[in-house]
Amino acid sequence: MAGIYIHVPFCAKKCLYCDFFSKTDMSQKSRYIDSLLKEIDDNKDFISGERIDTLYFGGGTPSQLEEDDFRKIFDKLNESFDLSFCSEITIEVNPDDIDKDYLIMLRRFPFNRMSMGIQSFNDKDLKFLNRRHNSEEAVKAVKLAQIYGFKNISIDLIYGLPEQTIELWKKNISKAVSLDVTHISAYHLIYEEGTPLFRLLEAGKIKEVGEETSLDMFRLLISELESNGFRQYEISNFCRPGYHSRHNSSYWSGDPYLGLGPGAHSYNGKIRQCNRPDLKSYISGKGYREKEILSDNDVFNDYILTSVRVMEGMNLSELEKRFGQEKKAYTMNMAKKYIDNGTLEIKDGFLRLTKEGVFISDAIMSDMMYVED
Ligand code: SF4
Repeated sequence: MAGIYIHVPFCAKKCLYCDFFSKTDMSQKSRYIDSLLKEIDDNKDFISGERIDTLYFGGGTPSQLEEDDFRKIFDKLNESFDLSFCSEITIEVNPDDIDKDYLIMLRRFPFNRMSMGIQSFNDKDLKFLNRRHNSEEAVKAVKLAQIYGFKNISIDLIYGLPEQTIELWKKNISKAVSLDVTHISAYHLIYEEGTPLFRLLEAGKIKEVGEETSLDMFRLLISELESNGFRQYEISNFCRPGYHSRHNSSYWSGDPYLGLGPGAHSYNGKIRQCNRPDLKSYISGKGYREKEILSDNDVFNDYILTSVRVMEGMNLSELEKRFGQEKKAYTMNMAKKYIDNGTLEIKDGFLRLTKEGVFISDAIMSDMMYVED
């Protein structure tokens, strides 16, 4: 099974914290679409022989595209791949792009999942993050999407904002739960270098929340969502039963995927391919793609990174089958101290994070990676 990811590199305005590749100048949109169609043609063999299970339009802001753009993309995809087994087709949207007409248009295409970048239901947070929408528009967008047939809706939230209190975060979670969505992704605010947010921090104009507050917010997120029927299936992802993101789960399972568009990554088990985050070179069709042939250790480390982050954990028989006895012994040796301190556990043949381990998962994963002498 394989997935296809399409990166739409346009946003109406840049958010304060964002380091995803996107441009606010839409003037090159039609040339981008032409290049994308050509890229689909040129790369269809990258995942040849695989059944396409998921398709994901991410960004940037895919909801900046129009009907004609989607029509061209779907026509080309259908010409190049068999999408008849595709069980999940997601579009990322911004709440303020959503109105009745846009939703009716989207329903003409086979989208069956929507991922909405809401980030917060607090207007002060949204203003600080430089989002385009306010809280009322976010709520309206979710309800409208549900009315117009999107039953599988995920929303993104960000926590750990400067000056955000536990009480305000709790209100955000409650609001998200009240909207009857099927999936919630919640990420801690990250100060990525090169972003305006990072510059504000450097200039001393804002202060990071304390580590204890961050952990309390994460604990609250897990307990509130679990007590409201959501299951944490990955460190930052929660779903109602049966509604995990199949697309993201396939990344974490190490399944092949083809990433299209500037800044997109692809992987087929042997080669990792990366499109440079540069619209000019993407449109020119020259030198935008970089290939990396993976060593056995690269593949092993990818496996550690992706399998430990899911709550189900790492299948130890699969680990041995794929990487041999030596790498399994290495893994068990590295895991021992975490098993002893209660942050990892072995259950039903899976090595997985415990409830306490989730809070130090980054440290565990980087410690377990194999580093050559
Ligand atoms: S809408 Fe999304 S991709 Fe665009 S700037 Fe904001 S966070 Fe980044």
